[in-house]
Amino acid sequence: MPRYTQDSRERVRDAVDFEELVGARTELRKAGVRRLQGLCPFHDERTPSFGIDPVEKLYHCFGCGAGGDVFSFVMETEGLDFGGALESLADRYGVELEREAEDPAMAARRERTDRLRALLERTAAYYVRVLWESPEAEAARSYLVGRGLEEATLREFRVGFSPSAYDRVLTASSRAGYSDAELLACGLASQRRDGRGLIDRFRGRIMFPLCDERGRVLGFGARALRPDDRPKYLNSSDNEIFHNGRIVYGSDLARASAARAGRLVLVEGYTDVIALRQAGVPEVVCSMGTALTDQQVDALRRLAPTVLFCQDPDTAGQEAVKRGTTAVRALNNRTQGRGLDFRIVRLPAGKDPADVVQHDGADAMRSLLDRAVPLARFEVEMALENGGTSTDGRDQALEAAAAAIRPLPPSVLREELVQLVAGRLGLSENLVGSALLTGRRPLADTSSPSSSPTNGARAVLDRREQTERAFLAYCLALPDEGESRLAAADLDELFSAPETRRAAEYLRGRLRSPAGELPAGDEPLARLVAELVIRAGQLEATPAKLELEALQLDLHNLDRRIATARTEGHERIHDLAAERQQVLDAIRHRLS
Ligand code: ZN
Repeated sequence: MPRYTQDSRERVRDAVDFEELVGARTELRKAGVRRLQGLCPFHDERTPSFGIDPVEKLYHCFGCGAGGDVFSFVMETEGLDFGGALESLADRYGVELEREAEDPAMAARRERTDRLRALLERTAAYYVRVLWESPEAEAARSYLVGRGLEEATLREFRVGFSPSAYDRVLTASSRAGYSDAELLACGLASQRRDGRGLIDRFRGRIMFPLCDERGRVLGFGARALRPDDRPKYLNSSDNEIFHNGRIVYGSDLARASAARAGRLVLVEGYTDVIALRQAGVPEVVCSMGTALTDQQVDALRRLAPTVLFCQDPDTAGQEAVKRGTTAVRALNNRTQGRGLDFRIVRLPAGKDPADVVQHDGADAMRSLLDRAVPLARFEVEMALENGGTSTDGRDQALEAAAAAIRPLPPSVLREELVQLVAGRLGLSENLVGSALLTGRRPLADTSSPSSSPTNGARAVLDRREQTERAFLAYCLALPDEGESRLAAADLDELFSAPETRRAAEYLRGRLRSPAGELPAGDEPLARLVAELVIRAGQLEATPAKLELEALQLDLHNLDRRIATARTEGHERIHDLAAERQQVLDAIRHRLS
């Protein structure tokens, strides 16, 4: 993304009506002078634990720990990165963004990219017109209608048709001022075999625009209509704009509903995506090939914490799961369980999701989605089904099942799977348990399982860190007293937790306008500052209470220094103990 000036970011923050922005996701009501609360849009709850400060434009949920500023809110609810959130808000609230000064080479590159993108957009629009207006596209229209797809949904995805003539896109584009080099660069033209000039790359095919998560066309997937046209699917080849391994088809349309639903449905074909959206499952995408790349898995994770992978249960389908999950396991290892909850939806044999929707109805599809099983369970079930009944077959099934169970942490799921294997193979649970201990680790997986993400459970803070946060919340609630206390304090000494210390450093001098200068893309800081501001809004703060929090903090601080002095055999331990006694007396005095 281009770098925008900090001033631009602040103007966007100022322009946003935060109450309206959040209010579109959850109903808010007044709960204090500067506080609104409602049901959390990030987790399921019956009583509100989600609060916003409409002036500072910060939010925090005491239930699941979600929190941050206007930019985090849009990133979380719409599955965008920081730049995307900034641009989307600027657009919505009519703020002109200014770029940081670019060097001429950068500016030239950006100009070129803008032109190529515009060329792709106009070509996509052209293909759509051909699909709905040209007699030549009749067969394409009847194929799509035959799959149960409606015009309105197809238009939403900008599905089109490329005419079979050799030069339609070429001619129209050069008339509009685009060069041959530009047509080649964005993959719309190819060299003629005889080397003399160019031809349209896509001819006589159904065209699916491949977009980034903001809906900008980067390339095309093209399906042949005639059975003798090879290949059946022809994609844009990788170029300076388009990278097959980064595309998640449908993510631009799916992201808002995926963020709301907290899940994403992953299918294999373009028409499956379109059919499911039409059937009322809008949180649906497909990957662009056989195996998920790391970048695609990262993109999925940005869209939702849970992914339901729709699979035909035949052998090819099982292979697809294997190919599909290596990158997921790698992500889960990398993020230590805060990766993706990857579940498998078992489809009826020989049917893809579009078939299920068309022949059995949307409800049938939804109930299959609701019955999705964790990846490990799917693998265990497959091992048991494939194993056969001979001794060798049962041994193989045991080894394959053990390989799927072994990486799981102690959990109900793990216990259930051990019982399932024991029951099905007629073995004792002890024997299955020892197979888990002795077996080799599978190569594809090294440690962590696809355990469910823990964004709900928050680490329990120790007492000291709680005190540090409470103190900062009081400083925010009473900014005059707070500023003089923070100005006088040695923050390194006073704050033991690195995160809290960073928040204190940031807040010093900014207590009266805490959200104003949050640095771009620093989510942990935004989250903590938001929490502190929302807490501050709930306090009935008085200078005496602030004083008490400060004393509590001193007490923790002295405890730590005494502990250090003790291990180092320090002389000053008596002075410190005396000081501690004074602080303790002061606290008692104020509490009595
Ligand atoms: Zn929540």
